Amino acid sequence: TKISGETTVRNQGSPINKTYQLFIDGQWVDALSGKTFKSYNPATGELNAVVAEAGTEDVDLAVKAARKAFESGPWATMSPSDRGRLLNKVAQALWSKVDFLAEVETRDNGLPINETKHIAIPGTIDVLEFYAGLANKVQGETLSSPQDRLNYTLKEPLGVIGAIIPWNFPLMLTMWKLAPALATGNTIVIKPAEETPISTLELVKIFQEAGIPDGVINVVPGYGKVAGDALANHADVDKVAFTGSTDTGRIIMQAAGKNLKPVSLELGGKSPNIVFDDANVENAVNGSLFGIYFGQGQVCASGTRLFVQEGIYDEFMEKFVEKAKKIRVGNPSDEATQMGPQVSLKQLERIEKYVEIGIKEGAELLTGGTRTTDVGEGHFFTPTIFGNVTNDMTIAREEIFGPVLSVIKFKDEADVLEKANDTIYGLAAGVWTENLKRGHRMAKKLKAGTVYINTFSMLDSVAPFGGTKQSGFGRELGMQALDMFTETKHVWVDL
Ligand code: NAD
Repeated sequence: TKISGETTVRNQGSPINKTYQLFIDGQWVDALSGKTFKSYNPATGELNAVVAEAGTEDVDLAVKAARKAFESGPWATMSPSDRGRLLNKVAQALWSKVDFLAEVETRDNGLPINETKHIAIPGTIDVLEFYAGLANKVQGETLSSPQDRLNYTLKEPLGVIGAIIPWNFPLMLTMWKLAPALATGNTIVIKPAEETPISTLELVKIFQEAGIPDGVINVVPGYGKVAGDALANHADVDKVAFTGSTDTGRIIMQAAGKNLKPVSLELGGKSPNIVFDDANVENAVNGSLFGIYFGQGQVCASGTRLFVQEGIYDEFMEKFVEKAKKIRVGNPSDEATQMGPQVSLKQLERIEKYVEIGIKEGAELLTGGTRTTDVGEGHFFTPTIFGNVTNDMTIAREEIFGPVLSVIKFKDEADVLEKANDTIYGLAAGVWTENLKRGHRMAKKLKAGTVYINTFSMLDSVAPFGGTKQSGFGRELGMQALDMFTETKHVWVDL
């Protein structure tokens, strides 16, 4: 059988393995490196699986397989309509496995089952359906030309895509690259994060069962400094699509730069979320809580800097802190849990370090700031709020990537705009106001890839997502992602 490993759990007819191999050229294979690594459940510390660890030679084999599948074989000759049909078939299979995939993602990464089941996994499948529908709508143009000439453009796939993925939303962020890359005819090599390799390996099984040709998708789990580095540096990768931290983004760009390959970078953020005193306070409290604590605060776009206008500061903060204290932290497999564990001990320690710095720099700890073992042995941290923060404090400048909020008081539009834009990042921003003109005015002036008005952290397959400044460049989702995975060819015909 092509699908290897020892079956331990059954759910919706799908096995979760205890061991996983690499997926290269449609085969499950051991790593040439001879190495494996362990993947743990962050809520319980239990071993999820032992996973083959890709080395440089393994990545090279995967790139070769992707190249072969791109140049020849069924994928290379498949019509765009058939590609779309095949991707829709995969999407149907995924819909029948939502509960299973949600369970795998929750065990892998610690997201509450309610969020994986109702937000992350359905959102992932929606992205696939969106691009499946676009597969036969990627088209060039006929250009305006004099009578003795015909000029037109073709939109062609780039070739082999190297995709490097973080751990915070493994399936969703994989699909943001995988779906538009395949819809436009590319092939792909995916390097999942070392913390969360399993859901991607389960995902690819479903693509394989639906009939995706060998070599079109390859998955090489392993460490960033080895497998990730090999993929980013590979001379035969046509584009590197990266999501992760800004520091790693810099390394990826340098690596791809050696071969002059294009890169897209979806990086970190320190997004401002601005509450004006004319906001609907109830909605702003609830939306801002979601904006910071969704995904345990491990969301690139999180509204980590909450700006509250002087006039409603006290009223808003009283309600906000009270509700934050009631967030149910617990085992993510429990339907009632609202916040699960942080993904790793390393992250937990990083968050603690920032809490210490916040206190030292004079911010006021309003709630949280500690680990909690009340709910189990995992990496649990309490929802944390710092008041009296100024925009020059470390906790207002650096990405913490955990459930830690910095609250800053402001006077007026000019004051908050200056502070909100005073950051190296530019991923998302939020504005809460009942004044329509103010909302649009702020949207124009905030430096961010996405501006939310009276909501926060929402995503839609149709809406482009990405950063400005050191949050990266390139846009995923929406029609814009088609440009990320295609090249424009111009044809000039003398008549
Ligand atoms: P990370 O940068 O440490 O790792 C991301 C991926 O890069 C992993 O697969 C890792 O193995 C790989 N990697 C690490 N070092 C590498 C190297 N030298 N060469 C090649 N690959 C390497 O990030 P993380 O901790 O996994 O994820 C959290 C970060 O991701 C946060 O900064 C967050 O803001 C960002 N993020 C951004 C978006 C977005 O869309 N803008 C979305 C999610 C997460």
